[in-house]
Amino acid sequence: LFTGGADFLKGVVAMDGLPPADRIEVCFAGRSNVGKSTLINALTGRKGLARASNTPGRTQEINFFTLGDNHYLVDLPGYGFAEAPLPVVQRWQELLRTYLAGRATLRRAFVLIDARHGVKKADEEIMTLLDQSAVTFQAVLTKADKVKEKDRARILDQVRERLSKHPAAFPEMVLTSSEKGIGIDTLRAIIATLP
Ligand code: GDP
Repeated sequence: LFTGGADFLKGVVAMDGLPPADRIEVCFAGRSNVGKSTLINALTGRKGLARASNTPGRTQEINFFTLGDNHYLVDLPGYGFAEAPLPVVQRWQELLRTYLAGRATLRRAFVLIDARHGVKKADEEIMTLLDQSAVTFQAVLTKADKVKEKDRARILDQVRERLSKHPAAFPEMVLTSSEKGIGIDTLRAIIATLP
């Protein structure tokens, strides 16, 4: 799947801009600065494919990428930076809700969590929204290289405990470091073998 190439398709700001739901789809969500762009670039092997979520103009868009001929990879805007005006935030939340609730081809969401910080309030909010939308999600811990080996088990336990409260959460997590190439192959394999 990942040898088939990945390309930016379009940024979507409203429901009528969504591409037809004719491919298997996975989406990525995470707090701003969690390392989402870096991870998408590492997964696809294309530096600069996903730009940092704080790039002006791309912030509030749902960005669609094609993955080979049969998949979409969807980059949801980073959340947790609350400086956008309220109407903008509300419009965005509405779009996200509608997208998550109505996308039949969406197989799984990946919720990125900074391995140093564990689950934060904003992560809880997105996970609750995924529960409500009945979208299966899997936690991906990022920046594992920043966490000492001896601290990893404790952090994984904290995240596992929080995930257990969410009916839509997939129990297994993926520990990654885009910098060191940890967990990237595992994540590719998960995406490639989704039913
Ligand atoms: P985004 O806002 O979620 O798209 O985050 P970015 O991908 O732009 O990454 C935010 C910052 O974290 C950047 O300075 C990256 O270089 C850094 N970063 C991303 N992934 C890793 C990683 O695996 N390890 C380390 N140490 N830093 C990372």
